[in-house]
Amino acid sequence: MSFDKLLFGTAGVPNSTVKKNNPVEGIQKIHDLGLDCMQLEFAHGVRMKDEISSSLRKASYELNVPLTSHGPYYINLNAREQDKIDSSVERIIQTAKISDLCGAESMTFHAAFYMKDSPYDVFDLVEKSMNVIEERLSRLDIEIELRPELTGKTSQFGSLDELITLTKSVGSVKPCMDFSHLYARTGKYNNYEEITEVLDRLADELGKDALNNMHIHVSGISSNSKGDLKHLNLEKSDFNWRDMLRALKDKDCKGYIISNSPNLEDDAKMLKDYYIAL
Ligand SMILES: [Zn+2]
Repeated sequence: MSFDKLLFGTAGVPNSTVKKNNPVEGIQKIHDLGLDCMQLEFAHGVRMKDEISSSLRKASYELNVPLTSHGPYYINLNAREQDKIDSSVERIIQTAKISDLCGAESMTFHAAFYMKDSPYDVFDLVEKSMNVIEERLSRLDIEIELRPELTGKTSQFGSLDELITLTKSVGSVKPCMDFSHLYARTGKYNNYEEITEVLDRLADELGKDALNNMHIHVSGISSNSKGDLKHLNLEKSDFNWRDMLRALKDKDCKGYIISNSPNLEDDAKMLKDYYIAL
């Protein structure tokens, strides 16, 4: 997808949607709220009836609310047992299939846990699986951006370095840039200069297009030495979202920016309003 701006949306159906279990109404709500996009959350499993995915695709198109998606939590491409790795691969493929049916062109997921293994070994395993997934999706004629998330816990695969290296090595992989997680994971990157450095690095290492087609997550966050503890509303956290938005604006970043705060649409609107006023 090519973008002419940043699109602001929510991780899942907005809280104020009357029927919260109905994603089609969620799209309508996003539109009514003056937001731009919505992420389908398959956190607890990837099942969707065909008629739901086709009505989602239709609503998304008609109301001009593009969709992204988030795969299930039960994914670990570094699981101890081969059958758990295999089912993780299947879950990612299943997420891609349903996302594609809904018209989503970018999907994110948490790729793996280190399980106390060497990060280098884990990287190799994740890379291997991503190549398998890419190959299988291409045989199914499904074109979707596979975006491992920049994760918040130091026990999880998904550091900035890992995502950059993986993006360079697997064609359909791009990073899902969760700036709140990046801060929780490292205790850094919480001011304009450091966030600008990250954006410059993405452009330098992945090409200018990396900033023209972003999938960003943001929320308030609390953390300890192991990283991400809890997602909070932005105003209850010291995450410097104003500096993040200034950096994104000054670097002319485009793509999706998804609020993962508990109050979903309130923070999404606050982000959008602040950004537009910059
Ligand atoms: Zn996530």
